[in-house]
Amino acid sequence: MLELGGLTKSFGQTHILKAVDLKVMRGEMVFIIGPSGSGKSTLLRCCNRLEEPTDGKIWVGGVDICAPSTNLNKLRQDIGMVFQSFNLYAHMTAKQNVMLALRKVQKKSKAEAEAIALKFLTQVGLAERADFYPSALSGGQQQRVAIARTLALGPKVVLFDEPTSALDPELVGGVLQVMRQLREEGMTMVVVSHEMRFARDAADRVIFMADGVIVEQGPPEQVFGAPQHPRTREFLSSLN
Ligand code: ADP
Ligand code: MG
Repeated sequence: MLELGGLTKSFGQTHILKAVDLKVMRGEMVFIIGPSGSGKSTLLRCCNRLEEPTDGKIWVGGVDICAPSTNLNKLRQDIGMVFQSFNLYAHMTAKQNVMLALRKVQKKSKAEAEAIALKFLTQVGLAERADFYPSALSGGQQQRVAIARTLALGPKVVLFDEPTSALDPELVGGVLQVMRQLREEGMTMVVVSHEMRFARDAADRVIFMADGVIVEQGPPEQVFGAPQHPRTREFLSSLN
């Protein structure tokens, strides 16, 4: 579903991603863990071209998304992204936030956009909060609105960049529950997260990144239970 071949990103003389190869299968939930500054966010951002790769290739469903003919609007609907900061519009209700791109980008009718928005707000457990403004929602609920907004556009892959890092601990579970349900429905997901217990439990594969390279990867029980590389061991033990 998503493939990176020799993905390289430099800012000036600083090499952030160093020829990263990665294949994510349809329906797979891949976690990326690693120290701060290792290039995790940059990798995700290259996948929908919020950052332009310096070198290398990215394919989505076999299509080269770095080709000059790529429609970036379409790409960003195909590759949804959920950020740490949910970025909802404060002057719009939950439903209006979800409807916005359906109306403006996908040119849906108001009735159709509304029906889709309600469907996805229901999926994230917020049907009753559809007409609430963000200020009347908890951080966890706001993040679930942001997830509904991404899902409403019909993505093939969803990238999550530390989706629970800004939340109070008691609000994390609701967001993880939505992600777990998405996995059961067969969504392809790449998740950067520090929720190691969740990764251990829900990931199909865990990738440890450091200094712009994939140091080690494997099933969660292997990477967490029997890490092969000293860097991985050092990182995991620093968390406890
Ligand atoms: P992570 O998400 O793993 O913490 P990032 O991908 O955010 O790492 O960042 C990796 C490195 O790239 C960091 O050293 C960061 O300072 C640098 N970096 C990220 N974006 C830019 C940018 N736009 N310009 C210059 N350096 C950047
Ligand atoms: Mg990051």
